[in-house]
Amino acid sequence: MKTIVSITSLERSGSTILDLSLSKHPKMISFGEVWRTLSPGRSIDRVKNMDCNCGHKVKDCEFWSKVFEQIEREKSIKWIERYYIFLEIFYSFYGDDFIPIDSSKFLRAIEKFKLLDDYQVKTIFTIRDVRGWTYSIKLSEKRKKEMPLKLIFDFNEFKWQWKAYIRYNFLRKVPGWLSYEWMYRNRKILKFLEKNNYNYLKISYEELNFNDKVFDKIFNFIGLNNTVLQNSKAHIVDGNRTAFSKDLSLRYDLKWLRDKPINIMLPQVGYFNKKYVWEWD
Ligand SMILES: [Zn+2]
Repeated sequence: MKTIVSITSLERSGSTILDLSLSKHPKMISFGEVWRTLSPGRSIDRVKNMDCNCGHKVKDCEFWSKVFEQIEREKSIKWIERYYIFLEIFYSFYGDDFIPIDSSKFLRAIEKFKLLDDYQVKTIFTIRDVRGWTYSIKLSEKRKKEMPLKLIFDFNEFKWQWKAYIRYNFLRKVPGWLSYEWMYRNRKILKFLEKNNYNYLKISYEELNFNDKVFDKIFNFIGLNNTVLQNSKAHIVDGNRTAFSKDLSLRYDLKWLRDKPINIMLPQVGYFNKKYVWEWD
């Protein structure tokens, strides 16, 4: 059976580094947030003019141009039909033994994998230490301003972003909220994966850095040998594309340990953190 690897996590939890590391495997290729790229809510003309991280527009990208030509030809408006077209083109373009990486992070996309028959979806859930996560979020919020209000007037974006909008602009101003939000959102993903019998592997950002056997474990889960790695390969339209232009060698982000931020945290958040971030085999 053909395999798809899906990566799910909160933002700033090491998923980009994981995605990039996996796409260095000769048999794996990254496509960013595929469900989002294929969303029927966005006009095809608009997507065709978006940039792929291979350096071309979607309409000129060697991979995505084929996908959208076929979507137009078959007039596929259903999300799942489009995903099947994506898969069909993927396997004919690269070969049946290749594996696409879909880093659609959010549950709204992850739940769609239930609709795919005849493929085995292997989900990697990444989680980062609550102290590192909250610190990283605070730093990035200092750099960014509030999430712009114009976002909620763009309906297509709004569908994806309204919860984030409320979080950014209101809830995160409440002291202690962030660590609770971290637990609440991570737990929601875990519960979903459990309840729907997803075949998943939990990897923390800390394990990714400090367990030297971690890639054996990941490739074993995917069903590939941990072979000599090459350059990462990707056609990413939606997702953390900026990451691909920077130096992304695996290096633990120690800022939160160095700066020693004050953390307001409920005991159950600490317990959750210990269990899901720092315990691994
Ligand atoms: Zn491309």
